Amino acid sequence: MPGGPIMVKILVMATLLLGSLVLLTNVMPTSRQDFRSRRMFGIVRGPAPLVAAIVGHKDPDDSHRETARDEKGKVKVRKTEEEWKAELTDEQYQVTRCSATEQPFTGQYWNHHEDGTYTCVGCGQELFTSDAKFDSGSGWPSYTGPVGDEAVAEIKDISYGTVRTEIVCSRCEAHLGHVFPDGPLPAGLRYCINSASLDFVEKGGQTPTARP
Ligand SMILES: [Zn+2]
Repeated sequence: MPGGPIMVKILVMATLLLGSLVLLTNVMPTSRQDFRSRRMFGIVRGPAPLVAAIVGHKDPDDSHRETARDEKGKVKVRKTEEEWKAELTDEQYQVTRCSATEQPFTGQYWNHHEDGTYTCVGCGQELFTSDAKFDSGSGWPSYTGPVGDEAVAEIKDISYGTVRTEIVCSRCEAHLGHVFPDGPLPAGLRYCINSASLDFVEKGGQTPTARP
């Protein structure tokens, strides 16, 4: 058949082109959210906290709602500022979304001793248990550690001329408070948390479910 070899060449070329396209799209981040999650991961675990602290950890274009999953399939919650304002009280919004700090000895949970679980006021994720709570004398609810390593993320905070480690909810990035190296042994850590960023579920109460 005349032109046969040329047709074969074209077919081979087309197959190669298609193959490299498939390869390329698999290697590239599949979406902007995917890329963001990787960046967030870098902020938490990588050498970028100082940069993150300087530029701020909030995305400048965080103006649209997104619910996506990170590399581990964990749901990340993102909402517009208007949505957060509608869902939270003024104080909860100022603390969780603007990193404000409530006055000591004024919050709902600094002197709270019930058995149960403290959850994120923004998304319902479990953060701390009453077993880890201790009286630090600071006027803020204090814990020796979170329910699990993945419940919270750490960000270097260089505001107010000091270097502190900020603690945020790993799921919705709500500002929770800071962690200091002066807690009780053996861990020696003090998670100093704003009551306004927490909800409380009594032991035996309805198991909290993380909200979208
Ligand atoms: Zn949260």
